[in-house]
Amino acid sequence: MLTGKTAVITGSTSGIGLGCARAFAAEGANVVINGLGDATEIEATRAAVEKDFGVRCVYSAANMLKPDEITTMIENAEHEFGSVDILVNNAGIQHVAPIDEFPVSTWDAIIAINLTAAFHSIRAALPGMKKRGWGRIINTASAHALVASPYKAAYVAAKHGIAGLTKTVALEVAEQGITVNAICPGYVWTPLVEAQIPDTAKARGMTEEEVKQDVMLKGQPTKQFVTVDQVAGFTVFLCSDPATSITGSILPIDGGWTAQ
Ligand code: NAD
Repeated sequence: MLTGKTAVITGSTSGIGLGCARAFAAEGANVVINGLGDATEIEATRAAVEKDFGVRCVYSAANMLKPDEITTMIENAEHEFGSVDILVNNAGIQHVAPIDEFPVSTWDAIIAINLTAAFHSIRAALPGMKKRGWGRIINTASAHALVASPYKAAYVAAKHGIAGLTKTVALEVAEQGITVNAICPGYVWTPLVEAQIPDTAKARGMTEEEVKQDVMLKGQPTKQFVTVDQVAGFTVFLCSDPATSITGSILPIDGGWTAQ
């Protein structure tokens, strides 16, 4: 379905982003993966995408805190593959703390990585998409783009912000064959979720098992973590022909969380 297309997925060295990268590659797209991590592991991840799906996969080390590196990532992808047709703004970090104890530098980093980075990548990728009259931009927001939870001020603010950015850009390019959507997963079992369990346990005075059952899955009526494959499959669907009229949408994949 996506043969001949190029997808850039930020924050794709693990978790949801890697799942998306592999799902796009499975559909025949060349992919640019990006993110932090151990160089040997990243190279193994990159090589596995090429081997498993017979597409080209390149790695960009662009740091989402650095606007110049984000722009260069898009320019390099266009140079390497001729186009950036699909852009998934997925890189994200989390920090759990009461607002009066929230480190200022952590607030700044979360807003930069989870929100501002998408502004820079969209800005860089849109001219090419407009020229070709086709593009798909998918911003990984969160159920926290629609509702809040305590102790996650920066994350919730950034995710609500990216919902606004999504709607605005969708309106600006609606007549140019480009769709812009935000996906809003509930709790997906990934390293990001696993890593926040100890801090949440501390902030709420709970055991780690209580955090899983009574905090995370409490609000998810299915009582199941969302899977990476479910999110990746939906992201691929948003790039398909039947999804052409879906734009400016803030789309939950949350086991019913935000229906409550
Ligand atoms: P993850 O920690 O597995 O992946 C995050 C990715 O972002 C990694 O590849 C990491 O290297 C990258 N990253 C972090 N800082 C970066 C930086 N400065 N520059 C470049 N890359 C950077 O987490 P995940 O759960 O897969 O999260 C992916 C996205 O999904 C995030 O935006 C997150 O907010 C969102 N999300 C996750 C869940 C969940 O339950 N896991 C739910 C809703 C939304």
